[in-house]
Amino acid sequence: MSTTSSLTSIAPTKDRLLVIYTGGTIGMWQQANGLSPGGNFGERLHQAFSTLPLSKQQSLPAYDVISYASLIDSSAATPFHWQQLAKDIANNLNKYCGFVIIHGTDTLSWTASSLAYQLQGIDRPVVLTGAMQPLEAAGSDALDNLYGAFYFAAQPALQEVAIYFANRLLRGARSVKQHSEAVDAFSSPNYPLLGERIGDDFIHYPSRGLAYQQRGAPRFELVDYRPLAQGEVARVVLWPGISPWQLKAMLGDSRCKGALIQLWGAGNLPSNPELLAMIAEASGEGKMIAAISQCPQGSIHLGAYAAGDGLLDAGVLSGDDMTPEAAYTKLVHLLAQPLSLEDQRHRFLTPLVGER
Ligand code: ASP
Repeated sequence: MSTTSSLTSIAPTKDRLLVIYTGGTIGMWQQANGLSPGGNFGERLHQAFSTLPLSKQQSLPAYDVISYASLIDSSAATPFHWQQLAKDIANNLNKYCGFVIIHGTDTLSWTASSLAYQLQGIDRPVVLTGAMQPLEAAGSDALDNLYGAFYFAAQPALQEVAIYFANRLLRGARSVKQHSEAVDAFSSPNYPLLGERIGDDFIHYPSRGLAYQQRGAPRFELVDYRPLAQGEVARVVLWPGISPWQLKAMLGDSRCKGALIQLWGAGNLPSNPELLAMIAEASGEGKMIAAISQCPQGSIHLGAYAAGDGLLDAGVLSGDDMTPEAAYTKLVHLLAQPLSLEDQRHRFLTPLVGER
């Protein structure tokens, strides 16, 4: 891990931001075999900010940068990476007024969702961002995303984990990557924006934020996720023609501790009793099975369709309108803790960080 400080700043540490650089396209360089994560991010960031108009440069908060020793394409992230990030934020909490996490976009919403559960009740901003183009690429979206992330990470009224991307501030545990190429790659399909940039103005909507809706002392749950970093929690997206043996391969394996099943529409699955029996068997073995919809918008209503009627009896937990990222990382977060199954199930159904 290496650390750099912004050269212009004389602000005391508690008025500064901590920037944690993990990798991703935003910091990548072109190599012979394609883009791969590049280092020296602190200086590159300083250089990029120095190209902004003076008034914008002067409005930037002071910051320190930590670069992880092993920079990754975010496709390489695992629950262990989520755990490491939460630990680094928690360890630096009293030294900084806000945090900016620089991350690859492919699994950015997964990391944001996981951080939200680990850092429950956080009383300052944690803003994740990245870019679709490397920082130094012509016409890159990186500088705009960084500038906006820095702006919101310095707002004390923002007290949760959020994503800033393409002029929009989204709740981390409500966001998804929705486009593989467009600059507005993220959306929050079932929750309104927490803030946005319109022209040169930044607008924050505090009444939509956790600071307004749920307060209390921070109750971080820094859990050891390593026992769940080898795929012990499965994700199954149903398709027409899915066979019981295929579900069994995932849910029936003794290593599986839980699963997220993505049903159709408002909570539908094929009317094959063997499929339902397979789910009920896994649930009966103490595996935590939750369901959400494959539709990006709207909620499921278990029991609405005859075909899906048996799901509640099979012990399946409704994930309502949660994103796959929020539902999956919540399963990991709960299953990693030494809680009774009843407690885990109860907490899954309870909104912890505005994720449902
Ligand atoms: N593959 C990259 C990553 O997720 C994509 C990006 O950062 O936009 O690390």
